[in-house]
Amino acid sequence: MLRFDGRVVIVTGAGNGLGKEYALAFGERGASVVVNDLGGSTSGDGSKSSRPADEVVDLIKSRGGKAVADYHSVEDAKAVIQTAIDNFGRVDILVNNAGILRDKSFVNMTEQDWDLVHRIHLRAAYLLTHAAWPYMRKQKYGKVIVTSSTSGLYGNFGQANYSAAKMGLVGLSNTLSLEGAKYNITCNAIAPTAFSRLTQDLLPPGAEENLKPAFVMPLVLYLCHESCADTGSLFEVAGGWMGKVRLQKSSGAMVRRANAPMTVEDVRDNWQEIVSFAKPLYHLTQADQVTHIMNAVESIS
Ligand code: NAD
Repeated sequence: MLRFDGRVVIVTGAGNGLGKEYALAFGERGASVVVNDLGGSTSGDGSKSSRPADEVVDLIKSRGGKAVADYHSVEDAKAVIQTAIDNFGRVDILVNNAGILRDKSFVNMTEQDWDLVHRIHLRAAYLLTHAAWPYMRKQKYGKVIVTSSTSGLYGNFGQANYSAAKMGLVGLSNTLSLEGAKYNITCNAIAPTAFSRLTQDLLPPGAEENLKPAFVMPLVLYLCHESCADTGSLFEVAGGWMGKVRLQKSSGAMVRRANAPMTVEDVRDNWQEIVSFAKPLYHLTQADQVTHIMNAVESIS
């Protein structure tokens, strides 16, 4: 059994849905858990409540686990991290999970809808991870999860704000995985689908039974376990299925010729090759990508 004894984990937005499932499971497997949740609505409007976090803490404790509630907004990132330090003396695992939705068709989307969704999903993940980072660096150990979405990967009507923030998290994770490597800090992104109060009106019939948050939880815990070295990865996970996602590109075309001006018509004339995925390419690092381009440029002469 994979255990987390001695590890301190912060799960944001752990009062409901996916976060609650992670927090309970971490608690059951020996971690000390900071159950962060401000007890807000799905849109981030209205009153707040300590009840969701308290209920999860009570459940963990009633099962013999260790947990403390934290009611700060994820925007108060330093205070959230401080709760872990004050109560348990360290932070090993940070699961950036808290989230809200402000769905509107693009034409009706206000700056407030845009900004709030970016603040809670992307900016707060930056703030929280930034506040946890010095502790993780110092102890040469850290596991960070960011929560992306298939709405970002594939787009979804009415979610321009959310899609953009969720793809931003993938970029954040990609770079943190590189900067954290030297300090044994891993960072991975997940794009889950699960029945929750956030998605109950959006998912097809049968989702409550087949897309339980419990079917996402095991991947998150595995990625956060010391035995898992994977980093910089993105996973889709839903209903018990999980798989890794990566970007690929077409093999493309070099449309520039030696000693000739490069024209718009060169693009048009090579269009089929440019957009064909018959022989897809992918790169694991930006250095690979630069090498590929330099080889292509050399091939001109
Ligand atoms: P949920 O609404 O059930 O839980 C989210 C929790 O976050 C709530 O308890 C809420 O109070 C809390 N929260 C919101 N704003 C907060 C803030 N500022 N500070 C602290 N806590 C805050 O939603 P869920 O479906 O479990 O979603 C969890 C995460 O997974 C979100 O980031 C969501 O975007 C992402 N996600 C979910 C799905 C899905 O299918 N459920 C799909 C893709 C991504």
